[in-house]
Amino acid sequence: MTPDTHENKYALVTGGSRGIGRAICEKLAEMGYNILVNYNSNKTAAQETAKLVEQYHVKAELLQFDVANKAQVDATLVKWMEEHPDSPIEVLINNAGFRKDALFMWMEEENWDAVLNVNIAGFYNVTKPVFGKMLTNRYGRIVNVVSLSGIKGMPGQTNYSAAKAAIIGATKALAQEVGRAKITVNAVAPGFIKTDMTEGIEEKQYRSIIPLRRFGTSEEVADVVAFLASPKASYVTGEVISINGGLHT
Ligand code: NAP
Repeated sequence: MTPDTHENKYALVTGGSRGIGRAICEKLAEMGYNILVNYNSNKTAAQETAKLVEQYHVKAELLQFDVANKAQVDATLVKWMEEHPDSPIEVLINNAGFRKDALFMWMEEENWDAVLNVNIAGFYNVTKPVFGKMLTNRYGRIVNVVSLSGIKGMPGQTNYSAAKAAIIGATKALAQEVGRAKITVNAVAPGFIKTDMTEGIEEKQYRSIIPLRRFGTSEEVADVVAFLASPKASYVTGEVISINGGLHT
């Protein structure tokens, strides 16, 4: 992809400290974006991401907030935007997410709420302020990281599947609202990707049902996200692209 270096243009990646988010930060840096690396609690990992980003001669700034906590988002992200009126966030990647699996029979209310809050309220809290500015600028790229679980539904993940399915709906609805302002809204739906989130899930147990016979890498997800975040994806919106090695939905 051709680097499109704009000194004051930023991309915000939620959950940029580790895994898929970190790989996305690197790809967007390679494209010439300065990166706002959001993290929740793992500052050391976020600092490592920032170092990787800076290798591409762009700026990396850390923004700590829990996406589910609107007060924290307002106190950090909204404040940053107010303090940097000439630094538009052109690209928003809603990547932060977590799972807390249990069969529904045993699912505690607190785990139901926590997963929905991070994935759904998080989308609202972060997207609302960023997207308002995109509307003014009449340009923007929003990519939501959802999951195969949100398409197919996975046993033991009613909370996570519901949350990701909600964001697929939000992606399609918002895409239709903002197309006129040249803002695109898409989603990527990874299958099994090797990150901390899938630690403990045995690859060899699932290999036989994945046509490409392996788990994916964060970089493979980040490549698709980078395309959707680029000017080249100008006529793609409201889509959900699966990145799952052919694992059928
Ligand atoms: P990961 O390795 O567990 O990393 C999660 C990232 O999200 C970390 O950067 C973490 O920050 C951040 N995060 C978690 N809760 C947050 C919160 N409340 N506020 C802000 N940041 C928060 O996960 P991953 O595998 O890279 O997953 C990234 C995205 O892909 C998630 O949305 C996940 O649901 C989705 N996904 C993953 C897979 C997979 O197989 N790995 C498959 C389908 C979808 P800290 O470092 O500060 O904790």
